[in-house]
Amino acid sequence: MAATADVLKPDFGTQRKHFIFTEEHDRLRESIGRFVEKELQPHSEEWEETTFPDSVLHRMGELGFLGLSVDERYGGQGGDYYCNLVLAEEITKSNSGGLAMGVAVHTDMAMPPILKFGTEEQKQEWVVPAVAGRKILCLGITEPDAGSDVAGIKTRAVRDGDEWVINGSKTYITNGHRADVIVLVTKTDPDAGYDGFTLFLVPMDAPGVIREKRLQKLGMHASDTALLAFQDVRVPDSAVLGQVGKGFYHIMWELQGERLIGAAGCVAGAQRCFERTLQYAQERTAFGRKIGNFQVIRHKFAEMATKIESARQMTYVTAWRFNNGEYPVREISMAKLHAARVAVEVADECIQIHGGAGYMKEYGVERVWRDMRLNRIGAGTDEIMLDVIGRSYGL
Ligand SMILES: Cc1cc2nc3c(=O)[nH]c(=O)nc-3n(C[C@H](O)[C@H](O)[C@H](O)COP(=O)(O)OP(=O)(O)OC[C@H]3O[C@@H](n4cnc5c(N)ncnc54)[C@H](O)[C@@H]3O)c2cc1C
Repeated sequence: MAATADVLKPDFGTQRKHFIFTEEHDRLRESIGRFVEKELQPHSEEWEETTFPDSVLHRMGELGFLGLSVDERYGGQGGDYYCNLVLAEEITKSNSGGLAMGVAVHTDMAMPPILKFGTEEQKQEWVVPAVAGRKILCLGITEPDAGSDVAGIKTRAVRDGDEWVINGSKTYITNGHRADVIVLVTKTDPDAGYDGFTLFLVPMDAPGVIREKRLQKLGMHASDTALLAFQDVRVPDSAVLGQVGKGFYHIMWELQGERLIGAAGCVAGAQRCFERTLQYAQERTAFGRKIGNFQVIRHKFAEMATKIESARQMTYVTAWRFNNGEYPVREISMAKLHAARVAVEVADECIQIHGGAGYMKEYGVERVWRDMRLNRIGAGTDEIMLDVIGRSYGL
């Protein structure tokens, strides 16, 4: 007797669920996505000119989106790490890379080191209001003379009685103009090599903190980017974050989460750009045909989809390992490198598929390219990712 289900046809319409996400994540995704589309996306054009207002973070705090994986003791939602991935993905629906970056710096770059290395008092002082959206965070690693070479930073913190005196400068600091506090990387013992760095929590209204300049950028226009100076800034001992002398290791840990979240944002941003362009290719005609029906264009979509899927799987599997307590530095570097490259390649190809329209602001794909381009530089350049990966094999 012939089996009834022996003709299997591919089901391209199936919702492709990944094993790291539960139905609870799906509900969270819907709720964040709805909020982003309704309350953020309509302002994306305006915020390219003005940068996004602080009220975005206040509102996200009210809705509980700024502490998704933070313990309930600090006002968070007590979820797992995948909730942060959901936020990083859904916020791309704002069509604003700058907004996504400003939020990610707050939730996934500056907040994690306070949670991991901070004292109870520091968590109460900074994490609780940050989760509520009442205080804004930024992170200061990069300096005018040292970016990739973190160990080459010059900002000095010198002990003076029971205080520390900080002098130096930081550049390209996201949220630097709006932040209430900075997680600051300093050198405390220039002769101690990697054991000579210390992190501080420095209030941005402390005397001697100068927000010198609003920097102009290729993309990410909705974010604010600051050049900061620290001139004889005095902070108490209680401002030390983590262990004195261990700041280099602390910040290397921070960078892993930052890179993984960056990879998730790249995948989601690339996917949105792909979908938008797919729709365009199904509508636009040339030589009497939909452009998507030219084999060369069809293959471009196939290439893009394959690249996006490879970056997505790499990111999710690495996130699974990270969430399960591993410290997969090699794989995080690979995911960040690959996802950033894919996002830029996809955005570039989407401009090409749009033709002249792709070069026009009104179609928005040029902005995706400009915004995504940062990901091959920020949080560790492609070259640094390759170096980390290469060195991990003992080379
Ligand atoms: C929009 C924006 C937002 C940012 N936000 C923040 C922020 O909030 N906080 C923060 O601290 N930083 C921030 N950054 C800084 C960012 O992380 C650095 O720009 C990045 O790490 C690179 O450092 P650099 O710019 O000093 O480049 P450099 O280190 O000067 O590198 C220049 C070039 O040399 C290459 N290179 C350097 N060393 C090596 C090596 N060993 N092997 C091979 N090639 C090498 C690099 O890959 C790059 O191509 C931001 C940057 C931008 C543009």
